[in-house]
Amino acid sequence: MTSIPTTLGPKRSDELGLILPHEHIFVDLRTLDTPGFAQADVEQVVQLMTPEIEKAQAVGVTAIVECSAVGVGRRVDIIRAVSEATQLPVVVPTGVYREPWVPDWVHNASESYLAEWMLSELQGEIEDSGVQAGWIKLSAGDEGLTDVETKILRAAATAGRESNAVIGSHTIQGQVVRDQLDIIEAIGYAPERFIWIHTQAEPEFELHLEMAQRGAWLEYDWIGNQDEDDLLKIQQLLDAGYGNQLLLSQDRGWYDPALPGGGVPQPYTYLVEKFLPKLRAAGIEEATIHQLTHTNPFRAFAR
Ligand SMILES: [Zn+2]
Repeated sequence: MTSIPTTLGPKRSDELGLILPHEHIFVDLRTLDTPGFAQADVEQVVQLMTPEIEKAQAVGVTAIVECSAVGVGRRVDIIRAVSEATQLPVVVPTGVYREPWVPDWVHNASESYLAEWMLSELQGEIEDSGVQAGWIKLSAGDEGLTDVETKILRAAATAGRESNAVIGSHTIQGQVVRDQLDIIEAIGYAPERFIWIHTQAEPEFELHLEMAQRGAWLEYDWIGNQDEDDLLKIQQLLDAGYGNQLLLSQDRGWYDPALPGGGVPQPYTYLVEKFLPKLRAAGIEEATIHQLTHTNPFRAFAR
C-alpha cells in the first residue's frame, strides 16, 4: 500500500482527494546572504496563511505540495505549524534549488554526501522537525545545468532510486530536461519518477510530447496566468494519450519575508473555482478531471 509522507504523517489515497502538486506557504527568493533571509515569526505566518488554506479546504483541497527547497527559504518548522493549525497535510521536499541559491555547504559537499543527506530526510526526518521529506525538489539554470546543479541532480537520482521518491525540477527549457533525463537514466532512476516543473514555460510543444514519450510527468503549474494556452495544450496531451502523466497547479501562496507582514498571499482556489469549470465547458469528462486533480498527483508523490 503506497502513501505520501506529509507533515501530518503518511497519507494513503483513501485519506486524500484533490491535491495541489505545486504551491508555496513560505518562500524567500532573496540571496542567502540577505540580512533576515528566511526569518519570520512563526505565529505571524500561521495567522497570514491559515485563512488562505481554509479557503482552499472549503473548495475541496485535501493536501498541497510545498515546493520551497533548500536555498529559497525552506522552513519545515513553519510549514508544520501552519499544517497543524489547519490540519492540512503538506508534502515537504528535500533537495536544493539552482544557482545562485545554492548554499556554500552544498557547493563543498561531495555527490555521495548529498545523496546520503537527501536519503536521510526521505527516510528519516528533516532537521529534527519530526517531518519526513516527501520528495526531492531541485532546479536547473535556464541556459543548462551548471556543475553544481549536475552534482545535485546526480545525488537526487541516487537518493530517489534508493527510496522511490519522486524528483521535481524547476526547468524552464525543454532542452535542459532532455539532459536531465539522460543523467538520471544513466544512474538507473526512471524518468517515470521525474516531474518537469513549469513545463508550460517551454513554448515548443514538441518538447512536451518528447518528454512525455520518455515517461516524465509534465506539470502545468501556472494555472490562472495563461488559461487559453494551457487548455489547448491539455486537450492535445489528452488526445495524445498522456492524461496519466499530467499535473496541474498554480504556484501560488505565500508568506514572503521580504515584504512587510509577509505581503498579500494569492489564493489557492483558482484552479477549482475558475479553471476546472473551463475544462468542463471544453467537454473534458469528469473522470478525466478526477484523474488530473486526484489520481495523478497521488501517484506522482506516493511511494
Ligand atoms: Zn514554485
